Order: sequence, then structure tokens, then C-alpha cells
Amino acid sequence: MAMCRAGLLGSRLPHPFRILCRQMSTEPRVAVDRLRQSGLLRTQGLIGGKWIDAYDGKTIPVHNPATGDVIANVPFMGRNEAINAISSAHEAFTSWSKLTANERSKRLRKWYDLIISHKEDLALLITLEQGKPLKESLGEVNYGASFIEFFAEEAKRIYGDIIPPTIDDRRLLVLKQPVGVVGAITPWNFPLAMITRKVGPALASGCTAVVKPSEYTPLTALAAAELALQAGISPGALNIVFGNAPDIGDSLLESTKVRKITFTGSTAVGKKLMAGSASTVKKISLELGGNAPCIVFDDADLDVAVKGTLAAKFRNSGQTCVCANRILVQEGIYDKFASAFAKAVQALEVGNGLIETTVQGPLINEAALEKVESLVKDATGKGADVLVGGRRHSLGRTFYEPTVLGNVNNEMLISSQEVFGPVAPLLRFKTEEEAIQIANDTNAGLAAYIFTSSMPRSWRVSEALEYGLVGVNEGLISTEVAPFGGFKQSGLGREGSKYGIDEYLEIKYVCLGNLKEA
Ligand code: ADP
Repeated sequence: MAMCRAGLLGSRLPHPFRILCRQMSTEPRVAVDRLRQSGLLRTQGLIGGKWIDAYDGKTIPVHNPATGDVIANVPFMGRNEAINAISSAHEAFTSWSKLTANERSKRLRKWYDLIISHKEDLALLITLEQGKPLKESLGEVNYGASFIEFFAEEAKRIYGDIIPPTIDDRRLLVLKQPVGVVGAITPWNFPLAMITRKVGPALASGCTAVVKPSEYTPLTALAAAELALQAGISPGALNIVFGNAPDIGDSLLESTKVRKITFTGSTAVGKKLMAGSASTVKKISLELGGNAPCIVFDDADLDVAVKGTLAAKFRNSGQTCVCANRILVQEGIYDKFASAFAKAVQALEVGNGLIETTVQGPLINEAALEKVESLVKDATGKGADVLVGGRRHSLGRTFYEPTVLGNVNNEMLISSQEVFGPVAPLLRFKTEEEAIQIANDTNAGLAAYIFTSSMPRSWRVSEALEYGLVGVNEGLISTEVAPFGGFKQSGLGREGSKYGIDEYLEIKYVCLGNLKEA
């Protein structure tokens, strides 16, 4: 088990932080006070470089999902504020896009440095408003920061082309230019990284942004924005508004000043944004829901498969769009895998993410817990076996026991819906062809995982899977240097890597004609 935990969560917390955590887990106010003192507890929106309340003074509370306590009250903004933020971004675009790539790069690099030097406070904020264990929050800060660092570097490499002409007194050039104002709508499960993955390439390419973080987790967005201002990201280049999500979303969609929408969240909302972008023909990138298969073949290394599946399933208590959603296990290894995996899951410690030993935090809210509960009820009602867990945790409210269900089949809702919780359904299969058929039998196509010791099979199955990301003998594969995005209804476009910046660029062809002297 020690190996499994290390694989899931990485190293221990830094020492001074460990001592502080002991105080904070018993008294979360200590954590909030620490953030207040650090200047990172910002509780207003950001428009044109100014911290702003809602124009009518309305506020909404931000809750700690582990305790239900209110951490802070923040403005409940809507159309008025969204329109002001769009105007600020539009105005700032003129000067931000004209900065040299080198200058934009330097400011982004400074932002990266500030995020890293404040990583413990940012991690604290993530755990307080999102619930994940502190070690995972620290991992998210590093991961989130990596997009700012990577795109600070890419800013200097936005090359055009010179094309050999077909008529000899012409020269044909290709320029790459920023799209313009970007509307970025982000979810609560990675309150920092889902923003930096969009804003990093946007700012690097010369675009400016209006970000609408999730109303469940606006505080991390605001803290990151505070550091962006300190780093010299120009006022208006990065704006943050939140509150009435449909109204803010519609304002972004309707505005002709907004040239691109980038979204991470549910497939249902993604489809609405895609339809809404049609009236002004915006560029659009979507990272939507997944239904990740994780295929364990008979020839897999059992330890590697257990450790990898555990990481792929239980990261962030199962609340990621790349979490293993259906674990397909070949019949020859099924019993051994089920028993080792169930043992590993049983040992996962559940609790408040501020407690150092916690590896499974709460779900984001009670509605999320009820959804998980109903999927488990449906599966067990149709014949699934509960190998571990299968019920609410004794901590109550938002806590659910890490669960493994055996003998799941395609008739059960859990094999077609995204669970977004700590429940691992095991499905038995016989042949490679059957596994590929089951894996691809879904409208989603984001992440897939396979565990096998055979190199030919690794190639064969990776190529056959209709998914944008494939992990072979690895459960955690996201990195800023590789493209992230889905096939089918899991989305459009790619984030991260050299491909990620193209989403924020227009291609312009310039023809220089009549170049011969008369
Ligand atoms: P989740 O179920 O993960 O919260 P959602 O798709 O509901 O996924 O939320 C992702 C983001 O989309 C959040 O910032 C949310 O506020 C926002 N959102 C939800 N509904 C709309 C909408 N109609 N228009 C624009 N944004 C929306």
C-alpha cells in the first residue's frame, strides 16, 4: 500500500507546512487567516486591473466542501460586469498584442515565478474551496504553473512561413496573429490549472482574456490574478468575473468583441456554448466529459496495473474528466486484480484535505454525492457486487467511501455515465477485440488507459482506441508538454504543448505582388 499511496500523491508535504497543517485541520480559520495575511485572499472580481464588487452589491458564499463552512463571500456578477470586462479586455488587446513576444514572455515568466513562490498558499486555497488533499493541491499548483512557464517560452516561437511563390514577381508570407479577446469558462475540479492552461497560451500569443471561473472555486482564480498583476500582466489583459454563469456566458457569446471561447466542463454546457458561438462565428475550444476505459489485460504486471488504475481512478476523489470510469479486466487476471485492487482501495484514507494523512477528500457538494449514490444503487440493484465501500462515509455530508464494484455490465448506468466520484466499476472481458469494442462504444473520447506487458499489443490497442489521450502502463499522464483533448463528443482542439498555442492564433496570408522593377 505504501507504494500505491506514493504513486497517487507524490512526496510528503514540506516540513513547516506539515506543522501548520496540524493546526489548520482542527481549525480551518487558521488557514483563512494565513491567506488573508499573505494578500492572496481576494474576494472581489477583477476588471481592467481594478478589484470590483457586483454593481448591485449582491454576493454569494464560497463553501469549504469538507466542512460546509463559508470561507468568504464574493460578488455575484452578471451581464453588466461581463460587458465591462469584455470592454477592458478589448481595450487592453491593442497594447498587449503590440508588446514584443520577448516582453510578454518575461512577464509570464515572472507570473510563473510568483505562483511557485506562493505555492503553499495557493495549495491551501485549492484545498479549502475544492477539497482535494493538500499534497494533490500542491501538485496542481506545480502543474498549473507549468503552463505559464511553457507558454512564456512558446511566446517567442510563434513562427510564420515564407512559401515559394508560383509567380516569380511575388512573395508569399504567412503571419500568425492573436485571435483577440478570449472568453475562458472553467470548472471547479482544477481551480488553477484549468485557467492557466487557457490563459497561458492566450496571453503568450497576444490575446487578452475574460475568465469566468466556477462559482464553487473563484478564490484560487482571484489569487492567481493578484499574482498576475504583481508580475506585470497589464490591467485589462486578464479579467475575472463570476456569478450568474448563463448570463455571463451569453454576454461572452453575443459580443462581437470576443473572438474565441475556450471551455472546460460538462458536455451539456459545452454544446450550448458551441451553438451560441455560431451567431458571431467564434473560434472555439472545448474540453468536455469523458468516459475513460481502463483495460487490464491478462499479461499486465499486476502491481503496475493496480497502482496505475488506483491513480487513474481516485485522483481528486474521482472528480476529473480523465478519471478511469470503466475498468475492463480480462478474465484470466480478473480475480487476482479485483482482490489486490480492492485491498488497495480499502486502505485509502478519507478525510478533510487539510489533514496530512488524507488521500481522499470530500466531493464538491451534496448533489455530487447523491449522483454517486444513485449510480451505485442502480448497479447493485442490477447485480453488481460491492467489493469495498458502497455507501456514504461516516464523516457525513460530502464524503463517500472509496468503492469497488465487481461484475458490472453494460446494462448498468455506471458504465455509460461519468461517475465523477470515488467508485471503480470492474467489467470482465474475454478478448482484445471485445475490450476495444466495449471501450469505443461511447460518445466520449477523452482519455483511455491500458495495462499490458506486450509491446505489439500496446501499439495495436493504442491505435484502435478512439481517444485523444492513451496511457500505457501509466495512470497519470497529463503534462504541459503533451497535447490534451478529446475525440468525438469529448471536445474540440488541444490544450498544452506546441499544439495548444494554435488555438489562440489566426493565420494570415500576405501576398507581396509586382516586385519586379518596371
Ligand atoms: P460541472 O458539472 O463540472 O460544474 P459545468 O459545465 O456545469 O460543469 O460547469 C463548468 C463551467 O461552466 C462553470 O464555470 C460553470 O459556472 C459554467 N457554466 C454552467 N452553465 C453555463 C452556461 N449556461 N453558460 C456559460 N457557462 C456556464
